[in-house]
Amino acid sequence: MNLSIRILSYGLCAFLLLPSAPSAQTLVFTNANVIDGIASTPAEGRAVIVRDGHIVDIVDVGQAPADGERIDLRGKYLLPGLIDAHVHVASVAQAHKALFSGVTTIRSMGVSHYADVGLRELTQKKIIDAPEILSAGYHVRSHPSREMFMDEPSLSDLWSGVKGAGAYRRVTAANLERSVDWIKITTTERAGLPDTDPRKQTMTREEVQAVVDEAESRGVPVASHAHGDEGARAAVLGGVRTIEHGTYLSEDTLRLMKTHGTYLVPTVAVVQDLMDAGGDYDDPVLQVRGRHMLPRVMETVATAKRLGVPIVAATDTSYRANSTLTLQHDIEALTKCGLTPMEAIQAATRVAAEMLRIDERTGSIQKGREADLIVVDQNPLDNILSLQDVLMVVIDGKVVLDRLSFGLE
Ligand SMILES: [Zn+2]
Repeated sequence: MNLSIRILSYGLCAFLLLPSAPSAQTLVFTNANVIDGIASTPAEGRAVIVRDGHIVDIVDVGQAPADGERIDLRGKYLLPGLIDAHVHVASVAQAHKALFSGVTTIRSMGVSHYADVGLRELTQKKIIDAPEILSAGYHVRSHPSREMFMDEPSLSDLWSGVKGAGAYRRVTAANLERSVDWIKITTTERAGLPDTDPRKQTMTREEVQAVVDEAESRGVPVASHAHGDEGARAAVLGGVRTIEHGTYLSEDTLRLMKTHGTYLVPTVAVVQDLMDAGGDYDDPVLQVRGRHMLPRVMETVATAKRLGVPIVAATDTSYRANSTLTLQHDIEALTKCGLTPMEAIQAATRVAAEMLRIDERTGSIQKGREADLIVVDQNPLDNILSLQDVLMVVIDGKVVLDRLSFGLE
């Protein structure tokens, strides 16, 4: 596909949202090269049969059933829908932007007014087409957002700061009352504000432990934002399931993560966004900070890989109109840190699903899994950038984006 057609196809994609095929319909994807999220090499010449929103069979193309709607992929690549494990999506437009980029599952990591819980409900009721959403409500942190006190005025005595196990338990419980799927804590300061130091620890191990106890009593896992090593270590020892960012992690802490089975979600590509003009961040202080952070986080990922710490891809974007970052940028960034293209793809599919405890439903192309699928034109193992060119998005067996004809010569 030449560049002008590609640009045209992006421009037109809004007009190509199909009146959705009912998910009860049988779809047969033929002549597919399948990257299933599990195997180390693609399976060529396959037919993937989808019925009632699920993958019901994967066969040699010659054995494809005659019934159902056939979608001939002509040797294009069929992958699991991507999982963006760290986003800040708070509107239908943002959710759409994620979905049409090829992301069929997102884990929300902190928004205001429980917008992620609302989006999750609207998606589950099929009112909107959006990625499956795992919500986390508000950040549980030493200085909660001011919006939180509008939704939770009973916590107003914590306006000037959350300190001690009891206070952290109350903020956690307020989120759990809103049926969040995850609790997000921050054990170091943020990187995306000019007047913070992301290396500085903000929660003690005892405070983390209190949050984890409270969340686990409802079966809810805890994710910790942590750039600095001390804060991250407190989070790991306190029992969190994931470390988000992990920029300045020591080898000791990474070893501890391996022992505890803690996942690393390094969000490498967003650091490049800090440095670049435009996008989610556009601040000269952050551009300088990004230059400091990028080599460190890349080193962290390389060490994590060497030690066998599970690594998961994520953007940390809001998918706003001006956002330029996609999950494919983070997949590409992980390959620059030493993951193979297949490992980086699995970090955005099956390994992410395992981290989120949804791998029995999605994250791979297997019999019985939800039909969350994307199609790309070229083999991403030869050129990882080809993942940017998503020609088709299918979620729960429903085709929500079809630009396949642009990929046909
Ligand atoms: Zn974030």
